[in-house]
Amino acid sequence: MRSEPRIFVSSPLPGRAIEQIQEAGNVVLGKSGVGVRDEEFLEEGASFEALVTLLTDRVDAALLERLPALRLVANVAVGTDNIDLAACAARNVVVTNTPGVLTEATADLAFGLLLAAARRIAEGDRMVRSGGFQGFRFDTLVGAPVHGSTLGIVGFGRIGQAMARRARGFGMHVLYTQRSRLNPNMETALGATYVSMEEVFAQSDIVSLHCPLTDETKNLVSSKRLSTMRPGSILINTARGACVDEAALAAALREGPLGAAGLDVFARESTTSVSIDIELLACKNVVFTPHIASADLATRVAMAETAAKNLVAFFHDGNPPNVVRY
Ligand code: NAP
Repeated sequence: MRSEPRIFVSSPLPGRAIEQIQEAGNVVLGKSGVGVRDEEFLEEGASFEALVTLLTDRVDAALLERLPALRLVANVAVGTDNIDLAACAARNVVVTNTPGVLTEATADLAFGLLLAAARRIAEGDRMVRSGGFQGFRFDTLVGAPVHGSTLGIVGFGRIGQAMARRARGFGMHVLYTQRSRLNPNMETALGATYVSMEEVFAQSDIVSLHCPLTDETKNLVSSKRLSTMRPGSILINTARGACVDEAALAAALREGPLGAAGLDVFARESTTSVSIDIELLACKNVVFTPHIASADLATRVAMAETAAKNLVAFFHDGNPPNVVRY
């Protein structure tokens, strides 16, 4: 009889995820904030058949080299830019992700950043706390309108479309761009107009990124592209930090044309540290959140349990529901 597979879960998970994963094999639980970089795990890596990873776990060719028995990487995220998909495919390692369950939570936070950046909510909070609010003034923290403005969405998949639904409720006009155009019925239902990448940047008051990080989207928001944006316009990024050139963004916020930004993700994030462009950190017209777009309790549980479901299905019949195609 075949012995139970060994599974490394890179950090503690909420809900019933760990119990569910234990139905499929013997679980070794990693340490929060260390994950697959744990030397103890790597030393006995030869026997692990599955990894359950977070987006801070880098699964590259060098790691795969140390895990010769590996058959599955179940990522607890929808993005898979932490995983070298080509290297996994070359070794017949299946990769799964957690699409759908985090769509609404991520759009909620993205819309929160949009409101906060346009209406200067974080600046207002700092002003009140520091004693700077000494009574109503007609010209205090005058922001940019949200209602009636044009929102440009880059990447009109699950989260981009959820953003469009919110924008409609706020009376915004919605433009979108991505490589493939939606069918006209969906465009009508979402009230969104398809435009080119150039047009979305040039014609929007607020641009929100919802594309994956790929070779094509790395530094998509470059100094050149920022220079085409409207005076006073706003950039929201809850996709991945490396889609934006942070130094160029800081310059565009300081010298124009941008009026504000809302950022949940950063170009240089690792498990243990984040290095944000120092000029960007100094910009008062940026609202930051610490990569928490999908961090509501129910969503975190759903993400963990979706990864568990993928893993259990993989070992049950080799057919997990959320395989990432390379
Ligand atoms: P999705 O449904 O796959 O949507 C992504 C969309 O991006 C697709 O419709 C795709 O359309 C488009 N796209 C891909 N390459 C593009 C390119 N080169 N230029 C323009 N558009 C492009 O994914 P999702 O579930 O909405 O998630 C989107 C991303 O959000 C994830 O990959 C992840 O990185 C990020 N995310 C972040 C957080 C957070 O915590 N901050 C949480 C969840 C997700 P085409 O293929 O037609 O171009």
